[in-house]
Amino acid sequence: MNMKSLREYIKEAEEKKIAIGHFNISNSEGFWAVVNASKKLNLPVIIGVSEGERDFIGVKQVKALVDTIKTEGLPIFLNADHTYSVDRVKEVIDAGFDAVIIDGAEKSFEENIIMTKESVDYKNSKNPEILIEAEYGFIGKSSKVLDELPHGVEVSENTMTKPDEAAQFVKESGIDLFAPAVGNIHGMVKGGNPKIDIERIRQIRESAGVPLVLHGGSGITDEEFKQAIEAGISIIHINTEIRLAYKQGIQKSLIENPDEIAPYKYLKPAVQAMQTVVEKRMALFAGL
Ligand SMILES: [Zn+2]
Repeated sequence: MNMKSLREYIKEAEEKKIAIGHFNISNSEGFWAVVNASKKLNLPVIIGVSEGERDFIGVKQVKALVDTIKTEGLPIFLNADHTYSVDRVKEVIDAGFDAVIIDGAEKSFEENIIMTKESVDYKNSKNPEILIEAEYGFIGKSSKVLDELPHGVEVSENTMTKPDEAAQFVKESGIDLFAPAVGNIHGMVKGGNPKIDIERIRQIRESAGVPLVLHGGSGITDEEFKQAIEAGISIIHINTEIRLAYKQGIQKSLIENPDEIAPYKYLKPAVQAMQTVVEKRMALFAGL
């Protein structure tokens, strides 16, 4: 079966002014929640696994899981989310992931470029079809519900990505996708997340010349999502909301069925709760 590549789906999303959802999973429950949502809405989707998430499920095992669905012709892609060393980038390129994020956001501009360029060179030597994403501008590292903004994150003109820096970063590193800091943060803040700088997205997309990825999607309002997509965002990451749905789903299920010991029974409502979150976000990002 001749399936379109992730690069082609992203290009198509840009043309249609929609975005592809990127949803993190830690186990097979999360996997089915995302796959079922994608099947139901007939939309392409990216499954994300951070270093911790893929260590839990297994790097080769999660690749094998995604492959079983791909062979059915479904547009499910696998991304190695925030990867903090070149060695771990090489590991997922060797494993055949569709995309990987080299995260040097806490490092200096120069150090970030060096590790990103090394990752790009490696994938070009192995498989140029794999997409390398990098971010410049720090937005925190959490996927939790936070009382306040994460340490080191201050949303101001100074800490957000500047369009000319984005252009320089992309040019020097050769990346395929760029994740800017535009007021987005990782995690959800109890009193409400900061506002997204829509005009900055437009300027960065123009200057960077590659598709943009919005991280820290949990906690952003529907209206802001629509504006961000219209301004040039092609992929949106959601994690915290799914984690919350899963945990609350399990808690509720255990309380309601205290004598149930079959995991596939008491976990089912939690999978459904994750699927509901994913479907809602996918539909919004696709303009449905
Ligand atoms: Zn992220």
